[in-house]
Amino acid sequence: RSTAEKFEFQAEVSRLMDIIINSLYSNKDIFLRELISNASDALDKIRFLSLTDKEILGEGDNTKLEIQIKLDKEKKILSIRDRGIGMTKEDLIKNLGTIAKSGTSAFVEKMQTSGDLNLIGQFGVGFYSVYLVADYVEVISKHNDDKQYVWESKADGAFAISEDTWNEPLGRGTEIRLHLREEAGEYVEESKLKELVKRYSEFINFPIYLWASKEVDVEVPAEDDDSSDEEATSDSSSEEEKEDEEKEEDEEGEKKPKTKKVKETTFEWELLNDVKAIWLRNPKEVTEEEYTKFYHSLAKDFSDEKPLAWSHFTAEGDVEFKAVLFVPPKAPHDLYESYYNAKKSNLKLYVRRVFISDEFDELLPKYLNFLMGLVDSDTLPLNVSREMLQQHSSLKTIKKKLIRKALDMIRRLAEEDPDESNDKDKKDDDESSDIDEKKGQYTKFWNEFGKSIKLGIIEDATNRNRLAKLLRFESTKSGGKLTSLDQYISRMKSGQKDIFYITGTNKEQLEKSPFLERLTKKNYEVIFFTDPVDEYLMQYLMDYEDKKFQNVSKEGLKLGKDSKDKELKESFKELTKWWKGALASENVDDVKISNRLSDTPCVVVTSKYGWSANMEKIMQSQTL
Ligand code: ADP
Ligand code: MG
Repeated sequence: RSTAEKFEFQAEVSRLMDIIINSLYSNKDIFLRELISNASDALDKIRFLSLTDKEILGEGDNTKLEIQIKLDKEKKILSIRDRGIGMTKEDLIKNLGTIAKSGTSAFVEKMQTSGDLNLIGQFGVGFYSVYLVADYVEVISKHNDDKQYVWESKADGAFAISEDTWNEPLGRGTEIRLHLREEAGEYVEESKLKELVKRYSEFINFPIYLWASKEVDVEVPAEDDDSSDEEATSDSSSEEEKEDEEKEEDEEGEKKPKTKKVKETTFEWELLNDVKAIWLRNPKEVTEEEYTKFYHSLAKDFSDEKPLAWSHFTAEGDVEFKAVLFVPPKAPHDLYESYYNAKKSNLKLYVRRVFISDEFDELLPKYLNFLMGLVDSDTLPLNVSREMLQQHSSLKTIKKKLIRKALDMIRRLAEEDPDESNDKDKKDDDESSDIDEKKGQYTKFWNEFGKSIKLGIIEDATNRNRLAKLLRFESTKSGGKLTSLDQYISRMKSGQKDIFYITGTNKEQLEKSPFLERLTKKNYEVIFFTDPVDEYLMQYLMDYEDKKFQNVSKEGLKLGKDSKDKELKESFKELTKWWKGALASENVDDVKISNRLSDTPCVVVTSKYGWSANMEKIMQSQTL
């Protein structure tokens, strides 16, 4: 069209589209759930706005918050339409031409190597998956604040936008028209679409309709069938005569009427999903499979992996709400990358079943950002702005309860894992599949999200002890496996007061440390902390179950009194004094007689409140 304005895609988008078009990825189905998910988002947005502005929905069909799918078999066009918020011209240019979010190039790279498009929705570029099945796409959109526009592109590096003067007015919302590729013909089959909607869009909170054909029986006069014969034999028989005959027979009521049934195809809107809010149901009645599917739809993760754990509960009292929390099977790629840049939580907030926001940082502390889930509250007000809601006093109560439930859920995950148990015999006896499934799940959790637990200990003083219970680490006695503080305490020697640990870059190096000599000889267990974050962690974790933590490379290590201590101190007094004087310029505070060594003649120890050698190293690497 000559009046169309032409635009070029941002280079990143072009690259992404090229990959999609040339992808040999076999599961092309995913485009449909991305489009439905976008339609659902757009409907959520308009519904949210309508809470404070009733006029915004308009009237008539415009008030119907639904999604419609239509097929044109002959032209091979698949259209998905919503009555959501729509897009202005500016929105079209911005949303369907540029990628705002970071991490996209990481995704592009990953896709180039793995070819797996399954997670595309998590990266905020799901729309472009339409080019898996279409070679030409039109997006017709009408926003309340603008005229109706058409965005179109053949994925050739450019798109065009025109004011829409030829399509039917949408009222409000968006219609995506996919001109399907030759080999994607299956997507105009009704059965295929029904199957896909069932599989991928079960938990969409708006009705999804398909303009579906229906075979109906219609009664037609039987004469019609042999009318050609009649026409051939007798021209004279008039319509009136026939009708008269029919009537006579009908009135007699004995002979069969001379009509017959014929199949005819009509079209009507067929509802494909039943809009169900899983979180409103009784947890006892929801199956594991339903939770898994619900998780997949929340997380936009269709990799078939089960969530590691979930918790579905109702909170009663001053603040009432229902919630479902999930521990994902894998940490998102950027979980710790963007930790300090205010990454939004993955919790969706609903108020009385109306979606409000998935960017409410007030619901969970940062360290629990890895959880997926949803909160639906009856206590929060519906008709206030997001800003007002963010300051509502109930949020504090909700947050507190969510943290409790989340930590309970993680503790249960550990308790149910047979690998976690000290009782080895029990482990071998029990071979039910349920146990098998739970085996090793806490290790899996720890490997993915252990860092979050550590960050929690640093940040959340209230729950520090609960979080410390969830800590896992290796030690001189863990035999290459992970162990916990409770297990450490159960192995403590009689008379041992402190929990011993040592920090460093890796276990192998620490195992050779002279600081361990005497301790291992005396059969004390020492924890290895090898993650840089552990140094910070131990500045916050002072004690556990009344036991103090003692860094064995620091001053203050007490391994029980030796009767010779005093004697030795006295006899080496001159030497230590001389040495202290000689090393004064090397920033050495003190020189002491010690009983911590057995083979090594001397070690450099850090003062109780100073940085450990490992911490020095970490700080140096950070300032470089
Ligand atoms: P995401 O949905 O993760 O933001 P997408 O690539 O799926 O990423 O969509 C990009 C953007 O395009 C959306 O954020 C939204 O602003 C806009 N968009 C897509 N589809 C629609 C629609 N049906 N109605 C309104 N806006 C839409
Ligand atoms: Mg999307």
